[in-house]
Amino acid sequence: QPPVLEVRGLTTEFKGRKTAVTVVDEIDFTVHKGETLGIVGESGCGKSVTSLSIMRLLGKNGKVVAGSVLFEGKETLKLEEKEMRSIRGNRLAMIFQEPMTSLNPVLTIGRQIGEVLQLHTSLGQEERKRRAIELIAQVGIPRAHEIYGEYPHRLSGGMRQRVMIAMAMACRPQLLIADEPTTALDVTIQAQMLGLIREMKQETGMSVMLITHDLGVVAEMCDRVLVMYAGQVIESADVRTLLRSPKHPYTKGLIRSVPHHSRGEKRLYAIAGNVPSPGEWPVGCRFAPRCTEAMPVCYQQSPELKNMPDGSLCRCWLHDAEGRDIP
Ligand code: SF4
Ligand code: MG
Repeated sequence: QPPVLEVRGLTTEFKGRKTAVTVVDEIDFTVHKGETLGIVGESGCGKSVTSLSIMRLLGKNGKVVAGSVLFEGKETLKLEEKEMRSIRGNRLAMIFQEPMTSLNPVLTIGRQIGEVLQLHTSLGQEERKRRAIELIAQVGIPRAHEIYGEYPHRLSGGMRQRVMIAMAMACRPQLLIADEPTTALDVTIQAQMLGLIREMKQETGMSVMLITHDLGVVAEMCDRVLVMYAGQVIESADVRTLLRSPKHPYTKGLIRSVPHHSRGEKRLYAIAGNVPSPGEWPVGCRFAPRCTEAMPVCYQQSPELKNMPDGSLCRCWLHDAEGRDIP
């Protein structure tokens, strides 16, 4: 049985003013059945473009220029758009940060869920209605019958996010890609939403690819984690290993900047500087200008992603090929 998703050498460019700029640069990863993979990093590191590349929703300025995306063993990058449409929203579903941009404001909730079912199932009109109401109830929206006939703007942000999840779950996807699904929500609603995704996952056995900048969310939800910086994977590990013994200075910085609410702390630490824009990635290690441990070699040569003895992968000159720390 092939993994649910296998991404190899994925490279995506966007049209710039003069030339194309690389935004995602030769990334590799796998999502196994039933697993939740977290993709973390600050905004501008290429996380969303990675998921849009997989969904083939880049828009006219973006283009996958190299690599392979095998979904359930099938090369999706080579599919006709028509074939891709039959997978998207069906076996491969996605939820976004801001539901208002993906819900149609002039169609009722019921109509929108119904359209997904019409596109991908052979259910008749009455059955679609029944199923839509069932889905609305399943994601924890009260008075599902009434909500069926409501328009998106009549619902709160949290309820709209639930509707998004209902639409994504309509065809029982094998893989749910969730891009910052809780970022716009307050802490309580955020926790409810994560709980809902976990519940849906347990019920259906689907895999989840969770994109977030929040390591607290990662700790709670993920089995494995991929850390991205400036279009590259710079570290990957199972979630415990990553949180307990991060290897890359960037990952360490991300972990240090998580506020400890329990100790009543505000954010104490922030990584200095900003993520470089695509097209302005520095030579050598792309993190070097912000790294407190940078050495001369870091400004000259780009480190490779290397195997560490504990099974994680790390892209940093502090670790040699065997993963021993250079003294
Ligand atoms: Fe820092 Fe050098 Fe490692 Fe880059 S390669 S993260 S600059 S120590
Ligand atoms: Mg993003």
